[in-house]
This record gives sequence, C-alpha cells and structure tokens, in this order.
Amino acid sequence: MKLSKRTETLEPSVTLAASTKAKELKSQGVDVLSVTLGEPDFPTPKNIQKAAIAAIESGKASFYTPSAGIPELRQAIVDYIEKFYGLTYDVSQTLVTDGAKFALYALFQAILDEGDEVIIPTPYWVSYGEQVKLADGTPVFVEGSEDNQFKVTVAQLESVRTEQSKAVILNSPSNPTGMIYTKDELQAIGEWAVAHDLLIIADDIYGRLVYDGNEFTPIATISEEIRKQTLIINGVSKSYSMTGWRIGFAIGDKELIQAMTDIASQSTSNPTAVSQYAAVEALTGTQDTVEEMRQAFEERLNRLYPLMLEIPGVKLAKPQGAFYLFPNVKGTMELCGYTDVTEFTDALLNEAHVAVVTGAGFGANENIRLSYASDWATLEETVNRIKAFVEKNRRK
Ligand SMILES: *Cc1c(COP(=O)(O)O)cnc(C)c1O
Repeated sequence: MKLSKRTETLEPSVTLAASTKAKELKSQGVDVLSVTLGEPDFPTPKNIQKAAIAAIESGKASFYTPSAGIPELRQAIVDYIEKFYGLTYDVSQTLVTDGAKFALYALFQAILDEGDEVIIPTPYWVSYGEQVKLADGTPVFVEGSEDNQFKVTVAQLESVRTEQSKAVILNSPSNPTGMIYTKDELQAIGEWAVAHDLLIIADDIYGRLVYDGNEFTPIATISEEIRKQTLIINGVSKSYSMTGWRIGFAIGDKELIQAMTDIASQSTSNPTAVSQYAAVEALTGTQDTVEEMRQAFEERLNRLYPLMLEIPGVKLAKPQGAFYLFPNVKGTMELCGYTDVTEFTDALLNEAHVAVVTGAGFGANENIRLSYASDWATLEETVNRIKAFVEKNRRK
C-alpha cells in the first residue's frame, strides 16, 4: 500500500528506538545496561494506586468521560496551578489529555496551517518537530549554545522570526539538557513573544524536579501580558512517576483550549477514566512522595556528575533539573576515532553493552543523553563501561 507523505518523512522517536535496540540485545542474552528512557524508575505512589483501584471498584471508571476531562480533575488542575504558580484560571481554561504529548499534538493541530512556523530551541525534546510537521507546520530550529547552558537568547529568536512564525516552545527545565531559564531570561523572551504576538508554549513538565537549590520559574508567572500569551503544558508522568497512566494537561486561552478539546473529542474521545481518577489523587493528595523522588534524583545527580567527568574527553556543565545528563563527547569521540555521534552510541551499545541515546535525535551532534532515572548500580556500571571502552579504544 502507498502510505501517506506524512508518514514518509516522520522520524520515529530516537529514545524509543534506542531502548528497543537494547532490549533486542538483551533478549539474545547480552548483559546490556540501558539508560535511554525518560521515565522515573519508581512505582506510582501507593495513595495514587489506591485511588485508581477505588475508582474501578466503584464502577465510575467504566465509562466515557467528558472530552475535556472529569470535572474533579479539571478543578484539581486549577487548584494545583493556583498553589504552585500562584495563578488563577477558570476550569474552562483547562484540558486533560492522554499525556502531555497529546496536549502538544492537539495544540499544533489547533493552531497551525500549512507553512506556519513554530520556533523550537535546540537541543529539543524529540517529538516537537515531528508533531509540528504532522500538523503541516514547519519547525524552525534555533541553536541554544552550549556555552550559554544550551539556552537561546532573544537575539537568536529574533533572527529566525518571520511573518509565518506562530509560536515558540520553551521547555525549562529542559529535556535533554536539564538546564533552567532564569527569570530575567524568561522575561526577555516573554516580552519579545508578546511584542510579536507569538504563542508561548511552556512545557513545564519537569517543573517539580529541580536540584541543588535551583529554582524553576514558570514563564506564565512573569507578567499578566505574558500569561495571556502562554499555553502551559504539564502532566503527572514525571513528577508522580505515572508515565504509563497517560495523563497530561493544558491550561491557557479558553478559545484555544476549546479548539484542542474539539480535536480530542474527534480523536481520543477522552483520557482513560481510571487514570483521571488516579491523577486527581496525585494532584490533591500528599506531595511528600514527589519530594522523596526529587531527593533521590538529586542524590544520584550529585554522585553521577563527578563520575561522568572522569570519562576522558567529556565536557558537561552540571544540570539543574529533569533527570538527564547531556554531555558533550566530541573530545571522547576524537580520542577513539569517531566523528559521528550515532556511530559512537552504536559502538557503545555493541561493544560496551551500554545503551545511551544519540544527541542527533535532539538536534545536537556532539552529545549523548543518559537518563539517571535508573538505580545507582546501573548508573555507576554504565559510566565504568564507557570509561573502559574509551581506554581500550583510544588512539592517543
Ligand atoms: C516526557 C515528556 C513529555 C510528555 O509526557 P507525557 O508522558 O506524554 O505526559 C513532554 N515533554 C517533555 C519535555 C518530556 O520529557
């Protein structure tokens, strides 16, 4: 069958591809360590599990829900944003989605016509560009310089802005770099977006996972003008260790939210009912477990970061949030005679039996991504194997 043009240019997710390759080797009996996936390794907290079980047993999880989500969860989202952002929204400005990923998908479907451009700072989360293309839009990439913690400046953004620019994406703390934009940086970018009437897409999914006293400022909190210009994307996957439950949400302009809801109503109908009841408990129940997981990530980061720097040729500024290391391995590759980062990660997998993700999928050709959402033994052994690989293969 002749498939659509859309699928011909669609790139499958590199993170999922890397973990699939690792699993294949594992099934052949190879002892592979994988630090590819961007999901917490903790089980979903007990109180949330119990809320889900109660929702099943009461029968209320058996049925379709409103497309925008159950009223309890939409109210819980309003209260959550009030508590953590200090911002007041109406329930009509919220939409519950099948993961934050679908919130973004519905958003691009709602705002883009053919040729419309979305400005995406690199390194970027793997799905942004592909989702923009699926909506017939054009992703326009702008490189966050490694010397500036991979963050983009207004001057850089302005240099790629055109009449077709419709929106700009900000993901802070960032996947894959773990870097956080400061208040001043956000203010400058926010004012620029307001001045040119660009929608700010704020992917705040790692907002609760920040370390070493670093602070996350949601861009929507900078000023009322910026808030009006911003669509907040968030969800329970990362903060509550609920990736498998598939609950995300969007908060912003009522008309835009309505358009996204209409798209959801014709595609997914509604997010899974039982997951929505679980998410109500996540957002309104104890937040102690979020802090416990955050501390566990922080401890791993503080142990792993110095180890990572022991690998010859590695350059890495310390990440401030999320749960990834995104080291520059140009020097490491040079030592071992590699010029292509994907060939380098393939060699790490096949020879050192460690699965990491090539930076190429994030728009960065000198970097690799490791997730420290893994147990400590795996992380330590991963670094040791990479070190041993470099020592064995170095040519100088
Ligand atoms: C994980 C992730 C998402 C999507 O999360 P869902 O599981 O779909 O809620 C969105 N943005 C970034 C940057 C992510 O890392």
